[in-house]
Amino acid sequence: SKPIVAIVGRPNVGKSTLFNVIAGDSIAIVKDTPGVTRDRIYADCSWLNYNFTLIDTGGIEPDSSDVILSQMRDQAQIAIDTADVIIFLVDVRQGLTDADGKVADMLRRSQKPVVLCVNKVDSFKKMEADVYEFYNLGIGDPIPVSASNHQGVGDLLEAVSDHF
Ligand code: GDP
Ligand code: MG
Repeated sequence: SKPIVAIVGRPNVGKSTLFNVIAGDSIAIVKDTPGVTRDRIYADCSWLNYNFTLIDTGGIEPDSSDVILSQMRDQAQIAIDTADVIIFLVDVRQGLTDADGKVADMLRRSQKPVVLCVNKVDSFKKMEADVYEFYNLGIGDPIPVSASNHQGVGDLLEAVSDHF
């Protein structure tokens, strides 16, 4: 059966934007989940010769900061339980946060393949140095993308498909 790829990360890092770029660039059958109007949760995607199911674990996200970490833990657990490859998405503009570190620990312990992706790298020259800080998460090479500019997504999918 097709591999499952899950996107995990803090609210506002760009999970839904990235999801829509990957799903939209593929010839995809998108299953709209009833009751969830804004976010598509599952998409059947294809890229090159690969077919996979993409999950946005974010769904509807809380505004209040004290529930963000617990929700991220829940998302990470869903990803660990269901996915073959996890995209851990962080935000170069917000930088590295404590919550990112805690979730990275959880993902590392799971021993699932994790691809670390740094979003909002809209200008590669300017932001390159800021991407290096994410090496401190200890889950491998950060892959810079700009989901809203559709940049870097091919490199990301190449790294993801290495684990299929
Ligand atoms: P989610 O909460 O993780 O699903 O994040 P969203 O996909 O809803 O995006 C949160 C905000 O970040 C939105 O205003 C997006 O337009 C913006 N955003 C997403 N990707 C990028 C990007 O590559 N660059 C910039 N500058 N903004 C982005
Ligand atoms: Mg979202």
